[in-house]
Amino acid sequence: MEGLLLDWFAAHGRDLPWRRTKDPYAILVSEVMLQQTQVERVIPRYLDWLERWPSVSALAVASPADVIRQWQGLGYNRRGLNLHRAARKIAADGWPADLTELPGVGPYTAAAVANFAFGHDALPVDINVSRIQERTGHSFTAPAAQALMDLGATVCLARVPRCGICPLASACPSRGRRYEPLRKQSRFEGSFRQRRARTLRLVAESERPLSELDREAVESLAQDGLVEVADCGTLVTLP
Ligand code: SF4
Repeated sequence: MEGLLLDWFAAHGRDLPWRRTKDPYAILVSEVMLQQTQVERVIPRYLDWLERWPSVSALAVASPADVIRQWQGLGYNRRGLNLHRAARKIAADGWPADLTELPGVGPYTAAAVANFAFGHDALPVDINVSRIQERTGHSFTAPAAQALMDLGATVCLARVPRCGICPLASACPSRGRRYEPLRKQSRFEGSFRQRRARTLRLVAESERPLSELDREAVESLAQDGLVEVADCGTLVTLP
């Protein structure tokens, strides 16, 4: 089954900028951005990021405020700050053998970087990959990682899999099945996450008096290290 998948990938795999490099830093940047942001939105932001900070050492000496500003619009801003912390740690100590020691790097991101940058025998298993493994009843190996990602994103979709064009259809016991809609992602509009994002955007534009801002959002952002409250608790700034 893996052979069928790899043949399909050779012909139909997506040409993504982070697939043209083995640089672990560039791949880490792409994986952190992709954690919660769609591929199409990540592509231009990834290219801009690498133009501004082309290496671990370049990012390590950036200010947290610049990093937070550059991350604006990607969402889940803690990721940017963690990426910056990770760069500082790598610049100081080198790449750790266990990549999950880096801030913001969980088992999935660690396996992706280990595989794509360092060539390790690690299969990053996200929701797409586990869905394909479940449906096909097959355990794929590390070399199939990128092919699985593309199959999960374009063919073996969560609700209405496109079995008619699937390279695995001849061997897949779930061929032709339909699935219940998945739980919808919680709404961003009106959420606390939106209030945090709006507050951070205002502070990223310029420092502001606390009295002009959403106090609860400021507290939560400060806890994550995304803003600082100076001047005896009256002025909110980027770190
Ligand atoms: S045949 Fe259908 S269910 Fe099976 S892997 Fe392909 S798209 Fe998914």
